[in-house]
Amino acid sequence: MLNIVLFGPPGAGKGTQSEYLLEKYALVHISTGDLFRKNISEGSDLGKKAKSYMDEGNLVPDEVVIGMVESKIKENLNANGFIFDGFPRTTQQAEKLDELLNVVKAPINAMISLNVPDEELKQRLLLRGKTSGRTDDQDESKINNRLAVYYNETKPVIDFYEKKKKYYPIHGVGEINEIFNAICSVVDAL
Ligand code: AMP
Repeated sequence: MLNIVLFGPPGAGKGTQSEYLLEKYALVHISTGDLFRKNISEGSDLGKKAKSYMDEGNLVPDEVVIGMVESKIKENLNANGFIFDGFPRTTQQAEKLDELLNVVKAPINAMISLNVPDEELKQRLLLRGKTSGRTDDQDESKINNRLAVYYNETKPVIDFYEKKKKYYPIHGVGEINEIFNAICSVVDAL
């Protein structure tokens, strides 16, 4: 089994690179942001719980996110592996993920982190907001809040994986193809 955490700030390209990776390595994609948006559009209780946090660019509480990821893993016990995209976003989520993966007896192999400067992230998010309809990408103050939340609550997750020697930083600016090749070199060497 191959289990990858694709990590990085909002706008780093996690969603785009996940699509390529899951095709090449036949993995199951667990994007917590996508799962929340699906729940919101279906009007589920989970969606209702998540919406107010997402609208402000704040993190949805850990127990809500962890429960959702747990069900997704349990639905795919025979998968070749998972790409976790947008999860874990707190150290507590990272600790819980290790426990959740006990059911498939396969740990996280690598945390691949896409590094992109803030100015580039802001430009990408504003551009995405124009076409995606995502309200959290359309307002500069919400974007700034999401970046602040990333630095305060999410970036410390790097230390968690660095201590386990599973942290692989990648330069996330340039051609999508080149970035994908850099990620594949890490994955193929695992
Ligand atoms: P994303 O699509 O990954 O940018 O996520 C959009 C929003 O969903 C975030 O700004 C958070 O409000 C929420 N969200 C997604 N993943 C998580 C997570 N792992 N923990 C907490 N909140 C999350």
